[in-house]
Amino acid sequence: MKKSLAGILMLSLSVSAATTAVAQTEQTETITKGKYTLVFINKAPDFSPVTKQKMIDAFFEVYPKEAREYNKQTLTKVTFIIDQAYDGVAATDAGVARYNPGWLKKNPEDVDVVTHEVMHIVQDYRHENPGWLTEGIADYVRYEDGVNNVKANWKLPEYKASQSYTNAYRVTARFLVWVCEHKNKHAVQKLDAALRAGTYTPELWNKLTGKSVDELWQEYSANPTVSLSYK
Ligand SMILES: [Zn+2]
Repeated sequence: MKKSLAGILMLSLSVSAATTAVAQTEQTETITKGKYTLVFINKAPDFSPVTKQKMIDAFFEVYPKEAREYNKQTLTKVTFIIDQAYDGVAATDAGVARYNPGWLKKNPEDVDVVTHEVMHIVQDYRHENPGWLTEGIADYVRYEDGVNNVKANWKLPEYKASQSYTNAYRVTARFLVWVCEHKNKHAVQKLDAALRAGTYTPELWNKLTGKSVDELWQEYSANPTVSLSYK
């Protein structure tokens, strides 16, 4: 009897020790500014408080702007998780953006990963959509609305003949800059709205620009000049 009582006691001690350890390594901070709330969950004990603050500042500067420009109905509460168990750069699903602390440690100026990730929350595409365009729009918005791209040395790549508009991310983003500059300055807003509404079809490019996306890419590849400026 005594032995088993001691066993129970030890068990309860180790459980409470484990609870304490979790509480120490996982810090949650909730910040509200105006109509938007950010829940910041840090699971990485050595995560830089400077980087954390930069990410919070970027969120409150960029997310309301993205909401105004693209989707006023977007979620007002967003969660960030600094997650050592996540080995990509960042990923977003259902109002939760997950960031790799290892990446941010190596690239501390790359805070506009926030700008890209929270655009996925604004996009809120629930219908089937071309992934290259979803990621292209997120990087287009990072280019347009980013707050630290210069310091991060983040740039849209020069056009190369080996590229395609389906390359996604920065290659597609540069093409979108060109489409907005030369064909229709509202093209990205219209594409985004259609993707969210589930009404996107490739014909939308014709409607917005008078040309198919393949024809646009052909024209772009013949003269890929765009005027770029970074913040
Ligand atoms: Zn993305």
